[in-house]
Amino acid sequence: TVRTRFAPSPTGYLHVGGARTALFSWLYARRHGGTFILRIEDTDLERSTAESVNAILEGMAWLGLEWDEGPFFQTRRMERYREVIERLLAEGKAYRCYCSRERLEALRAEQLARKEKPRYDGLCRDRTDHPEGQAYVVRFRNPREGAVVVEDLVRGRVVFDNRELDDLIIARSDGTPTYNFTVVVDDLDMAITHVIRGDDHLANTPRQINILRALGATPPAYAHVPMILGPDGQRLSKRHGAVSVMEYRERGYLPEALLNYLVRLGWSHGDQEIFSLDEMIRLFDIADVNKAPSSFNEEKLLWLNHHYIKALDPQHVAHHLSWHMGRLGIDPAAGPELADVVLAQRERTKTLREMAERSAFFYREPAGYDEKAAAKHLTAEAAPVLEAVRVRLAGLSPWTPERIHEQVVATAEALGLKLGKVAQPIRVAVTGTAVSPPIDQTLALLGRERTLARIERALG
Ligand code: GLU
Repeated sequence: TVRTRFAPSPTGYLHVGGARTALFSWLYARRHGGTFILRIEDTDLERSTAESVNAILEGMAWLGLEWDEGPFFQTRRMERYREVIERLLAEGKAYRCYCSRERLEALRAEQLARKEKPRYDGLCRDRTDHPEGQAYVVRFRNPREGAVVVEDLVRGRVVFDNRELDDLIIARSDGTPTYNFTVVVDDLDMAITHVIRGDDHLANTPRQINILRALGATPPAYAHVPMILGPDGQRLSKRHGAVSVMEYRERGYLPEALLNYLVRLGWSHGDQEIFSLDEMIRLFDIADVNKAPSSFNEEKLLWLNHHYIKALDPQHVAHHLSWHMGRLGIDPAAGPELADVVLAQRERTKTLREMAERSAFFYREPAGYDEKAAAKHLTAEAAPVLEAVRVRLAGLSPWTPERIHEQVVATAEALGLKLGKVAQPIRVAVTGTAVSPPIDQTLALLGRERTLARIERALG
């Protein structure tokens, strides 16, 4: 049965590229009724942090990419790595290398001078003595002949000549295992069947396959996913804008939109753009992942976000909106039902952050009036209009959009004004700005008490 894993190094936030890899791995496992494993590759003690682990777990949870096993931490598996290194040494598949740093540096300089690729020359490969007390690293005895053929599920066949690979260090002089080695032991112990990861790891793959074979294992299938580019064709990075999943949350994106966006980044199914999670699970196949890198396009993400804000159950959108309200210091209990606010705002707001900011007035008094809006609409001529509306609304019952609408229309007619000349001063008075949902809906949600108090305040 299928077993996939996501294996982030906890050295920062959850990057959108990492999230896409995680999504592909997750989808592949879900599609095949398999198991998705989360493994934290934290052996780089200098760069790994607990905050980063939390950020990754938080990002995965927010996206809804739940894992079936884990999280496993490599730092808790050191005993196991040591055991495998001992085994490889005992079987002669690895050897101790006593070469000094000076020798390796000189070797490297010579090779570079000859325009050769720097690589270890294998001096200690057949050494049989073990100088007492002298520091050593452990190297994997890589085959010197033949080739490693990777039948990559995205790239197709990739062939690596073993002569291009040198004897990789698998344990440093302090005994700690190196990155390529821990990945191999973990993929083996966790019985991973499909390694789906960024194609920056393609060059590691033949080394990992050789070690797996030395351990008597059958290598898993590999799928190396092309990277994500920024609009300038360079690898997507911070200087292109947000790259952290949680930054997209802060910017007001729904997880559904980000997932839909990420799945389409390098994968397609005909020209369909919108995919529910169930559809993704049903349709996703690694064979349809594009070989060419894809470019990040925030406009498209924004379009998808607006689609999901409009299409998803308002209660669900409200749940996410409530988080943004919290960030603004707003208690959603202090005003209308959030789901009703979603219904009133969703046509006009493309992000939840914008929706929250534009809906704050429902829950708390606006701090002041937008200057331009006030200068234009809260004028001396507007005062009698507001007063007339106030009187009409004061006794209105029931407080519904239909009844409010009638009163606004009646005020306009009584004063011989266009509807906008009545609606805009009210809007600025109650929201502090010149934009809001239709005025009848706005007032209905805001409630009678708040509406009247704010009109009175505007009248000074
Ligand atoms: N820890 C690696 C990374 O974050 C992933 C290794 C792998 O998937 O094999 O890039």
